Amino acid sequence: MQNKFYITTAIDYPSSNPHLGHAYEKLCADVLARWNRLLGKQVFFLTGTDEHGLKIMRAAQKAGLTPQAFVDRQSEKFKELCSLWNISYDRFIRTTEKQHIKVAQQIFKKIYEKGDIYLGTYTGKYCADCETFYTEKDLIDGKCPVHGKECELVSEESYFFRLSKYKEKVIEYIEKNDLSIWPAGKKEEIKNRLKQDLLDLSVSRTSFDWGIPVPINPKHVQYVWIDALINYISGVDYPNEQFKKFWPADVHLIGKDIVWHHTVIWWSILMAANIELPKTVLVHGFIQTESGEKMSKSKGNVIDPIELAKNYNIDSIRYYLIREIPFGEDGYFSEEKLIERHNTELANDLGNLVNRTLAMTERYFSGVVPAGSLDVELKEKLNLEKVKQHMQKFELHLALAEIMSFVKACNQYINEKEPWKKQGKELSDIIYTLVEALRAIAILLHAFMPASSEKIANALSIEVKSIEDVFSEKGLAGKKVTKPGILFQKINR
Ligand SMILES: [Zn+2]
Repeated sequence: MQNKFYITTAIDYPSSNPHLGHAYEKLCADVLARWNRLLGKQVFFLTGTDEHGLKIMRAAQKAGLTPQAFVDRQSEKFKELCSLWNISYDRFIRTTEKQHIKVAQQIFKKIYEKGDIYLGTYTGKYCADCETFYTEKDLIDGKCPVHGKECELVSEESYFFRLSKYKEKVIEYIEKNDLSIWPAGKKEEIKNRLKQDLLDLSVSRTSFDWGIPVPINPKHVQYVWIDALINYISGVDYPNEQFKKFWPADVHLIGKDIVWHHTVIWWSILMAANIELPKTVLVHGFIQTESGEKMSKSKGNVIDPIELAKNYNIDSIRYYLIREIPFGEDGYFSEEKLIERHNTELANDLGNLVNRTLAMTERYFSGVVPAGSLDVELKEKLNLEKVKQHMQKFELHLALAEIMSFVKACNQYINEKEPWKKQGKELSDIIYTLVEALRAIAILLHAFMPASSEKIANALSIEVKSIEDVFSEKGLAGKKVTKPGILFQKINR
């Protein structure tokens, strides 16, 4: 299908609670999903939780719960996060669902029967926290590169996937498709890593049982790759109608630490299963605290996104994160800067524009939008093509900046035109122009700040449906408008 957009986030591992990084990824995906809906595309937006593995088993034990009860509880926290952050997913997948398990086993079997999965013995340095075997090269001073812990030498019978067989095809796909990995720097990293020989991939475990049983040998469970990654196809109901409609995924949005898994490994699995490859693996950066440290539980500097959403207007948080962090790069989270942007750009610039415009419509025209002609000069201050291009190139921060510069231009327009000194046609034209500008702003901000966009739209008695309605021919003259109340309450520090 041509006019569709299928976007996924990584599925979160719920051994611990959601952190700001989870929220940020879902937010960016939500902005893209909403934007594409405005463009008139049929959108499918998938997120969810990755619920198997040793770490879950251990966390469940610690919590005094069965693994199933534990993931039932934990996945609710991720759903709550989505709800508080206004994440408009179409499906929340959990890898403990029957349908997912069925598809993961189907794919395992398919690849096994093809001869690309074989039984062998795996011996290696293993970090239980990562649930990963590391090669000597990966280790730092013999220790886990992620946790800095001593790794154990572990041997076990394991099924292997012939990853090596697909190396050339992976390279070919990267070369052939400009947007296969974005940003370009990440693509180069993967290309460099592909210069080394690839080891076949261990895809089963016998050392724990909280996983999907290997269909041909239930002594084994399917290890993470042919479980978690499969969610992207099981979540869209592989191999049925919905899958046919939406696959291949247009965007897999992920963090920069799992690019290898989502390109080399995932693509190889798909090729082995004769499934088309996703179009773009889109990589966002990490959020650090102001001191420049990555947030981590062990450092005790984690910002709880659920608490955050309860303390601030969610649209201010969404606005701040998208506007502040150039998409694709690392960024800092600072509560102070969040408040600053909230007060100046949202309460002052946007809030005032909405209130002034609607108050004047009420005062001068009893709340009924007058007929008038659009001020072309102001209209042209909105570069819609530029906004669209930024979104197309995943420059979310620049798109938002462009929209907000139009908000500023509208405020300036009011200051220059001084409508309170005007009357007759001149006054009607100004108010008509401002109301139309508000409609454009409500539509364009929808992807970034859905709740505020809706409040503005309600005040204008319109519905935000399509980007086509920005300065459309069908003007709002004759519509009754109301004041929305205060959109952004200033925060005193
Ligand atoms: Zn580790």
